[in-house]
Amino acid sequence: MTDILQPTTDTGLSQTPLAGKRALITGGASGIGAAVARTLASRGAHVVIADMDQDGAAELAGELNGSSWAVNLLDPDAVTDRALASAMDGVDILVNNAGIQKISPIESFDPADFRRILTLMLEVPFLLVRAALPGMYASGFGRIINVSSVHGLRASPFKSAYVTAKHGLEGLSKVTALEGGEHGVTSNCVNPGYVRTPLVEKQIADQAAVHGIPEADVLSKIMLTESAIKRLVEPHEVASLVAWLASPDAAMVTGASYTMDGGWSAR
Ligand code: NAD
Repeated sequence: MTDILQPTTDTGLSQTPLAGKRALITGGASGIGAAVARTLASRGAHVVIADMDQDGAAELAGELNGSSWAVNLLDPDAVTDRALASAMDGVDILVNNAGIQKISPIESFDPADFRRILTLMLEVPFLLVRAALPGMYASGFGRIINVSSVHGLRASPFKSAYVTAKHGLEGLSKVTALEGGEHGVTSNCVNPGYVRTPLVEKQIADQAAVHGIPEADVLSKIMLTESAIKRLVEPHEVASLVAWLASPDAAMVTGASYTMDGGWSAR
Protein backbone atom coordinates (compact mmCIF):
# COMPACT_ATOMS: atom_id res chain seq x y z
CA MET A 1 0.00 0.00 0.00
CA THR A 2 1.43 3.45 -0.92
CA ASP A 3 2.05 6.04 1.78
CA ILE A 4 -0.15 8.95 0.70
CA LEU A 5 1.91 11.51 2.63
CA GLN A 6 5.20 10.74 0.86
CA PRO A 7 6.01 12.63 -2.36
CA THR A 8 7.04 10.46 -5.31
CA THR A 9 10.29 11.12 -7.10
CA ASP A 10 10.66 12.63 -10.54
CA THR A 11 11.67 9.78 -12.82
CA GLY A 12 13.70 12.09 -15.05
CA LEU A 13 14.54 11.54 -18.70
CA SER A 14 15.83 7.98 -18.63
CA GLN A 15 16.27 6.50 -22.12
CA THR A 16 15.41 3.06 -20.76
CA PRO A 17 12.62 3.67 -18.25
CA LEU A 18 11.42 0.07 -18.70
CA ALA A 19 14.75 -1.61 -17.92
CA GLY A 20 14.17 -4.74 -15.83
CA LYS A 21 10.50 -4.96 -16.81
CA ARG A 22 8.91 -7.87 -18.64
CA ALA A 23 6.19 -6.96 -21.15
CA LEU A 24 3.82 -9.42 -22.82
CA ILE A 25 2.07 -8.24 -25.99
CA THR A 26 -0.76 -10.29 -27.48
CA GLY A 27 -0.93 -10.09 -31.26
CA GLY A 28 2.65 -8.87 -31.08
CA ALA A 29 3.76 -10.30 -34.43
CA SER A 30 2.01 -7.75 -36.66
CA GLY A 31 0.76 -4.19 -36.98
CA ILE A 32 0.27 -2.25 -33.74
CA GLY A 33 1.46 -5.13 -31.55
CA ALA A 34 4.77 -5.43 -33.41
CA ALA A 35 5.32 -1.67 -33.18
CA VAL A 36 4.57 -1.80 -29.44
CA ALA A 37 7.06 -4.66 -28.99
CA ARG A 38 9.77 -2.69 -30.81
CA THR A 39 9.16 0.47 -28.80
CA LEU A 40 8.96 -1.26 -25.40
CA ALA A 41 12.16 -3.18 -26.20
CA SER A 42 13.87 0.06 -27.21
CA ARG A 43 12.95 1.48 -23.77
CA GLY A 44 14.64 -1.44 -22.05
CA ALA A 45 11.85 -3.99 -21.49
CA HIS A 46 12.18 -7.71 -22.15
CA VAL A 47 9.32 -8.35 -24.56
CA VAL A 48 7.28 -11.53 -24.93
CA ILE A 49 5.55 -11.72 -28.31
CA ALA A 50 2.35 -13.76 -27.89
CA ASP A 51 0.80 -14.60 -31.25
CA MET A 52 -0.71 -17.43 -33.27
CA ASP A 53 1.74 -16.51 -36.04
CA GLN A 54 4.49 -18.72 -34.64
CA ASP A 55 7.17 -17.78 -37.20
CA GLY A 56 6.41 -14.05 -37.07
CA ALA A 57 6.50 -14.05 -33.27
CA ALA A 58 9.77 -15.98 -33.12
CA GLU A 59 11.42 -13.78 -35.75
CA LEU A 60 10.52 -10.51 -34.02
CA ALA A 61 11.43 -11.89 -30.61
CA GLY A 62 14.85 -12.88 -31.99
CA GLU A 63 15.38 -9.41 -33.43
CA LEU A 64 14.45 -7.75 -30.12
CA ASN A 65 16.28 -10.21 -27.82
CA GLY A 66 12.89 -11.10 -26.39
CA SER A 67 10.88 -14.30 -26.24
CA SER A 68 7.87 -15.62 -28.07
CA TRP A 69 4.76 -17.51 -27.00
CA ALA A 70 3.15 -19.23 -29.99
CA VAL A 71 -0.48 -19.35 -28.94
CA ASN A 72 -3.93 -19.35 -30.47
CA LEU A 73 -5.79 -17.40 -27.80
CA LEU A 74 -9.08 -18.81 -29.10
CA ASP A 75 -7.98 -22.34 -28.19
CA PRO A 76 -9.55 -23.14 -24.78
CA ASP A 77 -6.63 -25.45 -23.96
CA ALA A 78 -4.23 -22.51 -24.37
CA VAL A 79 -5.98 -20.33 -21.82
CA THR A 80 -6.42 -22.70 -18.89
CA ASP A 81 -5.60 -21.37 -15.43
CA ARG A 82 -2.37 -23.35 -15.41
CA ALA A 83 -1.22 -22.23 -18.89
CA LEU A 84 -1.95 -18.59 -18.13
CA ALA A 85 -0.33 -18.66 -14.69
CA SER A 86 2.84 -19.89 -16.37
CA ALA A 87 2.65 -17.37 -19.25
CA MET A 88 2.07 -14.45 -16.87
CA ASP A 89 4.85 -15.38 -14.44
CA GLY A 90 6.98 -12.25 -13.92
CA VAL A 91 4.99 -10.12 -16.38
CA ASP A 92 5.02 -6.45 -15.29
CA ILE A 93 3.37 -4.97 -18.39
CA LEU A 94 0.47 -6.66 -20.18
CA VAL A 95 -0.63 -5.26 -23.53
CA ASN A 96 -3.99 -6.72 -24.61
CA ASN A 97 -3.77 -6.13 -28.34
CA ALA A 98 -4.76 -9.21 -30.38
CA GLY A 99 -7.84 -8.45 -32.41
CA ILE A 100 -9.84 -9.31 -35.52
CA GLN A 101 -12.61 -7.66 -37.50
CA LYS A 102 -15.77 -8.70 -39.32
CA ILE A 103 -17.92 -6.36 -41.40
CA SER A 104 -21.57 -7.36 -41.84
CA PRO A 105 -25.05 -6.03 -41.09
CA ILE A 106 -26.50 -7.41 -37.84
CA GLU A 107 -29.27 -9.38 -39.54
CA SER A 108 -26.73 -11.46 -41.46
CA PHE A 109 -23.92 -11.39 -38.85
CA ASP A 110 -22.93 -15.00 -38.15
CA PRO A 111 -23.43 -15.62 -34.40
CA ALA A 112 -20.31 -17.81 -34.39
CA ASP A 113 -18.26 -14.83 -35.61
CA PHE A 114 -19.84 -12.61 -32.95
CA ARG A 115 -18.85 -15.08 -30.22
CA ARG A 116 -15.32 -15.50 -31.63
CA ILE A 117 -14.72 -11.74 -31.60
CA LEU A 118 -16.15 -11.33 -28.10
CA THR A 119 -14.00 -14.22 -26.86
CA LEU A 120 -10.71 -12.99 -28.35
CA MET A 121 -11.20 -9.29 -27.66
CA LEU A 122 -13.02 -9.29 -24.32
CA GLU A 123 -13.00 -12.64 -22.53
CA VAL A 124 -9.33 -13.40 -23.28
CA PRO A 125 -8.17 -9.97 -21.99
CA PHE A 126 -10.17 -10.70 -18.81
CA LEU A 127 -8.45 -14.08 -18.43
CA LEU A 128 -5.01 -12.56 -19.03
CA VAL A 129 -5.59 -9.71 -16.57
CA ARG A 130 -6.92 -12.22 -14.03
CA ALA A 131 -3.76 -14.31 -14.41
CA ALA A 132 -1.39 -11.32 -14.37
CA LEU A 133 -2.70 -9.46 -11.32
CA PRO A 134 -1.49 -11.77 -8.51
CA GLY A 135 2.16 -11.36 -9.59
CA MET A 136 1.74 -7.62 -10.13
CA TYR A 137 0.11 -7.21 -6.72
CA ALA A 138 2.95 -9.18 -5.13
CA SER A 139 5.59 -6.92 -6.70
CA GLY A 140 3.61 -3.71 -6.15
CA PHE A 141 3.90 -2.70 -9.81
CA GLY A 142 1.88 -3.43 -12.91
CA ARG A 143 0.73 -1.87 -16.13
CA ILE A 144 -2.29 -3.17 -18.04
CA ILE A 145 -2.65 -1.48 -21.42
CA ASN A 146 -5.68 -2.39 -23.48
CA VAL A 147 -5.56 -1.61 -27.17
CA SER A 148 -9.13 -0.48 -27.59
CA SER A 149 -10.18 1.77 -30.48
CA VAL A 150 -12.19 4.84 -31.30
CA HIS A 151 -14.80 2.07 -31.61
CA GLY A 152 -14.55 1.62 -27.83
CA LEU A 153 -16.09 5.09 -27.58
CA ARG A 154 -18.06 5.49 -30.83
CA ALA A 155 -20.06 3.10 -33.02
CA SER A 156 -20.00 2.46 -36.76
CA PRO A 157 -22.54 0.43 -38.73
CA PHE A 158 -21.75 -3.20 -39.71
CA LYS A 159 -19.27 -3.72 -36.84
CA SER A 160 -21.60 -5.01 -34.11
CA ALA A 161 -19.18 -7.55 -32.60
CA TYR A 162 -16.09 -5.33 -32.77
CA VAL A 163 -17.81 -2.26 -31.29
CA THR A 164 -19.45 -4.39 -28.57
CA ALA A 165 -16.14 -6.04 -27.65
CA LYS A 166 -14.26 -2.73 -27.51
CA HIS A 167 -16.96 -1.04 -25.41
CA GLY A 168 -16.75 -4.03 -23.04
CA LEU A 169 -12.95 -3.75 -22.90
CA GLU A 170 -13.34 -0.14 -21.76
CA GLY A 171 -15.40 -1.38 -18.80
CA LEU A 172 -12.95 -4.14 -17.92
CA SER A 173 -10.09 -1.62 -18.03
CA LYS A 174 -11.83 0.75 -15.60
CA VAL A 175 -12.71 -2.00 -13.11
CA THR A 176 -9.09 -3.22 -13.25
CA ALA A 177 -7.95 0.34 -12.53
CA LEU A 178 -10.19 0.58 -9.46
CA GLU A 179 -9.11 -2.76 -8.04
CA GLY A 180 -5.41 -2.35 -8.91
CA GLY A 181 -4.88 1.20 -7.66
CA GLU A 182 -3.84 0.34 -4.13
CA HIS A 183 -1.41 -2.31 -5.45
CA GLY A 184 0.59 -0.08 -7.80
CA VAL A 185 -1.21 -1.45 -10.86
CA THR A 186 -2.63 0.91 -13.48
CA SER A 187 -5.01 0.00 -16.29
CA ASN A 188 -5.72 2.15 -19.33
CA CYS A 189 -7.02 2.00 -22.87
CA VAL A 190 -5.55 3.49 -26.01
CA ASN A 191 -8.11 4.43 -28.65
CA PRO A 192 -6.71 4.81 -32.15
CA GLY A 193 -8.65 5.72 -35.26
CA TYR A 194 -7.73 3.77 -38.41
CA VAL A 195 -4.10 2.63 -38.23
CA ARG A 196 -1.98 1.56 -41.21
CA THR A 197 -1.90 -2.23 -40.52
CA PRO A 198 -2.87 -5.50 -42.27
CA LEU A 199 -6.18 -5.47 -40.30
CA VAL A 200 -7.22 -2.27 -42.07
CA GLU A 201 -5.85 -3.31 -45.46
CA LYS A 202 -7.98 -6.49 -45.28
CA GLN A 203 -11.06 -4.42 -44.42
CA ILE A 204 -11.04 -2.22 -47.50
CA ALA A 205 -12.68 -4.74 -49.88
CA ASP A 206 -15.36 -5.65 -47.30
CA GLN A 207 -16.16 -2.00 -46.59
CA ALA A 208 -16.45 -1.30 -50.34
CA ALA A 209 -18.87 -4.22 -50.78
CA VAL A 210 -21.11 -3.45 -47.81
CA HIS A 211 -21.30 0.29 -48.63
CA GLY A 212 -21.56 -0.28 -52.39
CA ILE A 213 -18.61 1.98 -53.32
CA PRO A 214 -15.29 1.41 -55.13
CA GLU A 215 -12.35 0.25 -52.97
CA ALA A 216 -10.43 3.40 -53.95
CA ASP A 217 -13.05 5.52 -52.15
CA VAL A 218 -13.10 3.60 -48.84
CA LEU A 219 -10.40 5.70 -47.17
CA SER A 220 -11.91 9.11 -47.99
CA LYS A 221 -15.62 8.17 -47.87
CA ILE A 222 -15.71 5.75 -44.91
CA MET A 223 -12.56 5.63 -42.82
CA LEU A 224 -11.50 9.27 -42.62
CA THR A 225 -14.85 11.08 -42.79
CA GLU A 226 -14.98 11.88 -39.05
CA SER A 227 -11.30 12.78 -38.54
CA ALA A 228 -10.05 16.36 -38.55
CA ILE A 229 -6.64 15.07 -39.68
CA LYS A 230 -7.14 13.13 -42.91
CA ARG A 231 -4.55 10.37 -42.71
CA LEU A 232 -4.12 6.94 -41.16
CA VAL A 233 -2.45 6.69 -37.76
CA GLU A 234 0.98 5.02 -37.96
CA PRO A 235 1.62 1.97 -35.72
CA HIS A 236 4.70 3.61 -34.14
CA GLU A 237 2.53 6.53 -33.00
CA VAL A 238 0.26 4.17 -31.05
CA ALA A 239 3.32 2.37 -29.71
CA SER A 240 4.73 5.60 -28.35
CA LEU A 241 1.54 6.23 -26.35
CA VAL A 242 1.60 2.66 -25.02
CA ALA A 243 5.24 3.08 -23.96
CA TRP A 244 4.42 6.25 -22.08
CA LEU A 245 1.52 4.55 -20.28
CA ALA A 246 3.91 1.74 -19.33
CA SER A 247 6.51 4.15 -17.95
CA PRO A 248 6.95 5.40 -14.38
CA ASP A 249 5.91 8.87 -15.61
CA ALA A 250 2.34 7.61 -16.08
CA ALA A 251 1.99 6.23 -12.54
CA MET A 252 -0.99 8.51 -11.83
CA VAL A 253 -2.77 7.71 -15.09
CA THR A 254 -5.33 4.97 -14.58
CA GLY A 255 -8.87 4.16 -15.64
CA ALA A 256 -8.31 6.46 -18.62
CA SER A 257 -8.87 6.11 -22.35
CA TYR A 258 -6.44 8.01 -24.55
CA THR A 259 -7.67 8.75 -28.04
CA MET A 260 -5.32 8.97 -31.02
CA ASP A 261 -7.93 9.40 -33.70
CA GLY A 262 -7.10 12.62 -35.54
CA GLY A 263 -10.05 14.32 -33.86
CA TRP A 264 -12.77 11.77 -34.76
CA SER A 265 -14.16 11.57 -31.21
CA ALA A 266 -14.12 15.37 -30.81
CA ARG A 267 -17.47 15.33 -32.63
P1 NAD B 1 -3.09 -7.02 -37.25
O1 NAD B 1 -4.04 -7.88 -37.99
O2 NAD B 1 -2.00 -6.33 -37.96
O3 NAD B 1 -2.42 -7.85 -36.06
C1 NAD B 1 -3.17 -8.65 -35.20
C2 NAD B 1 -2.28 -9.75 -34.64
O4 NAD B 1 -3.09 -10.52 -33.75
C3 NAD B 1 -1.73 -10.68 -35.72
O5 NAD B 1 -0.34 -10.86 -35.52
C4 NAD B 1 -2.50 -11.98 -35.47
O6 NAD B 1 -1.76 -13.14 -35.79
C5 NAD B 1 -2.80 -11.88 -33.98
N1 NAD B 1 -3.95 -12.70 -33.63
C6 NAD B 1 -5.19 -12.69 -34.20
N2 NAD B 1 -5.96 -13.64 -33.68
C7 NAD B 1 -5.21 -14.27 -32.73
C8 NAD B 1 -5.44 -15.36 -31.86
N3 NAD B 1 -6.60 -16.03 -31.87
N4 NAD B 1 -4.46 -15.73 -31.02
C9 NAD B 1 -3.27 -15.09 -31.04
N5 NAD B 1 -2.97 -14.08 -31.86
C10 NAD B 1 -3.94 -13.67 -32.69
O7 NAD B 1 -4.03 -5.99 -36.45
P2 NAD B 1 -3.77 -4.51 -35.88
O8 NAD B 1 -4.42 -3.56 -36.80
O9 NAD B 1 -2.36 -4.32 -35.48
O10 NAD B 1 -4.70 -4.56 -34.58
C11 NAD B 1 -4.20 -4.75 -33.28
C12 NAD B 1 -5.22 -4.24 -32.29
O11 NAD B 1 -5.44 -2.85 -32.53
C13 NAD B 1 -6.60 -4.91 -32.38
O12 NAD B 1 -7.11 -5.12 -31.08
C14 NAD B 1 -7.44 -3.88 -33.10
O13 NAD B 1 -8.80 -3.96 -32.77
C15 NAD B 1 -6.82 -2.59 -32.58
N6 NAD B 1 -7.07 -1.43 -33.42
C16 NAD B 1 -6.67 -1.44 -34.73
C17 NAD B 1 -6.92 -0.32 -35.51
C18 NAD B 1 -6.52 -0.27 -36.95
O14 NAD B 1 -7.01 0.63 -37.65
N7 NAD B 1 -5.65 -1.13 -37.43
C19 NAD B 1 -7.59 0.78 -34.97
C20 NAD B 1 -7.97 0.75 -33.63
C21 NAD B 1 -7.70 -0.37 -32.87
